[in-house]
This record gives sequence, structure tokens and C-alpha cells, in this order.
Amino acid sequence: MMLNSEETTRAIEVMGEMFPNATTSLTKTDPYHFMLSVILSAQTTDKAVNLVTPALFERYKTPVDLANASQAEVESYIKTIGLYRNKARFLIKCSQELVERFNGVVPKTRKELMSLSGVGRKTADVVLAECFGIPAFAVDTHVSRVAKRLGMVPADSDVLTIEKILMQKVPQDLWIKGHHRMIFWGRYQCMARNPKCSSCPLLDICPEGRSRV
Ligand code: SF4
Repeated sequence: MMLNSEETTRAIEVMGEMFPNATTSLTKTDPYHFMLSVILSAQTTDKAVNLVTPALFERYKTPVDLANASQAEVESYIKTIGLYRNKARFLIKCSQELVERFNGVVPKTRKELMSLSGVGRKTADVVLAECFGIPAFAVDTHVSRVAKRLGMVPADSDVLTIEKILMQKVPQDLWIKGHHRMIFWGRYQCMARNPKCSSCPLLDICPEGRSRV
């Protein structure tokens, strides 16, 4: 049984009661540097990203600085995080494109953001939401797992389908908060390996939880 719109919204409200301060764990900066942080956060923790970005952003203050940077030097600032070679390439390329096509200013549409190197749909959604307050429901690994376990979306849904269904079921003013709450829920309550089902306030509506306890 799938959760309907009302139940999905209620579940996200319950998550908000447990995690009222759920928000991005990445250090908030200006849109340009925040976008770079989101690119760096792919398949690594926000904590690891926050450790490397102060020195990186001090060295490269503007898109022009990074557009002219050497790959090796950028790598030296981010080598403690996963996929650093690819990410260094993305940071430079993305900055070059930003300078060439957007006058160095981070665009405010998903389409334009996704035209930049290293910026996929999730990164674009996070930038729109966090930097410009534009409603988006970014789907990462936690959001995806939690939505499937709770039956908010079909178990075989891909990321785009999950995003579309959540945006249909949840009122727009809850999209950004819902994204953060589901991430916190996935990190601290409904973890990939050992979800805390027996003490979960959503157990009565959760098909996965009921099959586990
Ligand atoms: Fe996750 Fe278990 Fe809670 Fe369901 S009951 S949301 S699987 S922790």
C-alpha cells in the first residue's frame, strides 16, 4: 500500500517534529562557492567537504580564479575527498563555463544550472533551494531510501520519478524542508543498515518497518 498525499505530508511533519532544525550540513557561503561545495559533496560526506572548502575558497575567490587554475593545484586542496581528480576537473570546467556563458554569475534556473559541468539535477535543485529559496525537492540516497521504505513512491522508482511523485504529493512550501527532514531521517532514524524501526513514530504506516519488527 502506498502512502497517499495526506499520509506522505503527515510523515514529513512527524520527521520535522523529531528534527526541527534539519537543514543543509554544508557550510553556507555565496551561491558560487555553495554550488562548488555541492559538486564536491557527491559520494562523500558534507563534513569532509567542509574541511577542505575554507582553504580552497580562500585560494580561489572568484570563478575567474578557478577558471584559470591548474588541475594539479586544485587537486592538492581537495585530495582528502572521494573522486577528487574528477571533481577538480569539474570545478575548473564549471567555473570556465560560468565565466564564458553567465558572466560569472550562478544562474537561477534548473536548465541553466544543469548545463554546467558537474551539475546534475540534484545539485541544481539544492542550489535553487538553498541559494535562491526556489522550491525544489532534491533527491539523494537518503531521500530515495526513506521514500521507498515508507511507500511514498514505488520501490522501483528512479530518482526523477521519486522527485516528481514527492512534488505531487507534498505541498510546495514543504519541498525544501521535506528534503532536509528526509535526509536527517535517513541519517539518524532510518539508516541504510540498521533502521530504528521498533522505536519509530512512523512504524504504524511503514510497510518496511512492519516487515522488520
Ligand atoms: Fe524507517 Fe523503520 Fe521508521 Fe519505516 S519504521 S521509516 S523503515 S525506521
